[in-house]
Amino acid sequence: MRKVQFNNLTYDELVDFFDSIGEEKYRGQQLFAFLHKNNGKSIENLSTFSKGLRDKLSNIGEINKITILKRFDSKIDETKKYLFLLEDGNIIESVAMRYAHGLTACISTQVGCRMGCRFCASTKGGLIRNLYPSEMVNQIYSIEENLNEKIKNIVLMGSGEPLDNYENVLRFLDIIHHKWGHNISFRNITLSTCGIVPRIYDLADEGLPITLSLSLHSPFDGLRKEIMPIAKRYSINDIIEACKYYYNKTKRRITIEYTLIEGTNDRDEDLKELVKIVGDLNCHVNLIPLNPIEEYNKNRPSSKSIEKFSSALAKKGIPVTIRREMGSDINAACGQLRRRFIDNGLK
Ligand code: SAH
Repeated sequence: MRKVQFNNLTYDELVDFFDSIGEEKYRGQQLFAFLHKNNGKSIENLSTFSKGLRDKLSNIGEINKITILKRFDSKIDETKKYLFLLEDGNIIESVAMRYAHGLTACISTQVGCRMGCRFCASTKGGLIRNLYPSEMVNQIYSIEENLNEKIKNIVLMGSGEPLDNYENVLRFLDIIHHKWGHNISFRNITLSTCGIVPRIYDLADEGLPITLSLSLHSPFDGLRKEIMPIAKRYSINDIIEACKYYYNKTKRRITIEYTLIEGTNDRDEDLKELVKIVGDLNCHVNLIPLNPIEEYNKNRPSSKSIEKFSSALAKKGIPVTIRREMGSDINAACGQLRRRFIDNGLK
């Protein structure tokens, strides 16, 4: 029989689990705190449990671990990128960034991705598998342990499409937020999606006040279909409706992500249409200069054009920021580290 992975269970599930094996429920709370507050890695170290109980638990279950394969340190800022090895040999990447409001971790939710966005390195080898909740929390705990500092903000913006791994992402949110564990506020968590409309409604109905970040990248359905295959399933209209629903339910202002691609979505007509589309949405636009990848033969616009695009949006009353480049000397774009590692090994 396959062993239970204790750190994949939510608080309620862990408490029920102890009940189901004839143990006191409060032991579930103790194990949860051991795992998610103290980053406990081995049942053997749970000294508040008797040897008998530890042996019993070790026979039934285990704690899923991830290992740091390599850390890349930016020489420009304090950004650190991590390659992690999972227990089955797969590799994922995460990023730690220092902002004025504290340390932020950008974590992966899948190994690879099946969304197929043309400009994104994460999707080039397709989807390998979904990450378990334990593998998501472990990215956070590993970084904290490595930097000896608590993470204040989490963005689900690494490799993978979080809403394509919906159940596990929700369990991750439940675990990382829980007061007996890491206890991070939902307000400090952002989930980024390419726009899987039914799941946006589902997430809104969960009523968690996390920030939704929507990867729009073009205000035209035609162009969006060319660069993001998911656009063939859901129109921009449907997405914006879903975003409005999300805002009404959570009262959290939506972020619209817009990767600027020279000559493709940075033209005057793009700007005009973008203003129309997001104008009555309670949102903030985050412009991301394209990080060119080998498989997509396009560039980012010049800094001057990016500034121009940004100030034109601002003039129309739309809150806008240009994503500050963090660690641009260490393979910034989503999924690039992992791909380079798979192609070339640890160089
Ligand atoms: N699947 C989610 C999260 C993944 S990536 C999503 O689509 O939102 C986070 C953001 O980085 C997305 O907006 C994505 O489109 C963008 N991105 C991916 N590759 C990029 C690249 N090479 N240059 C600039 N932005 C990129």
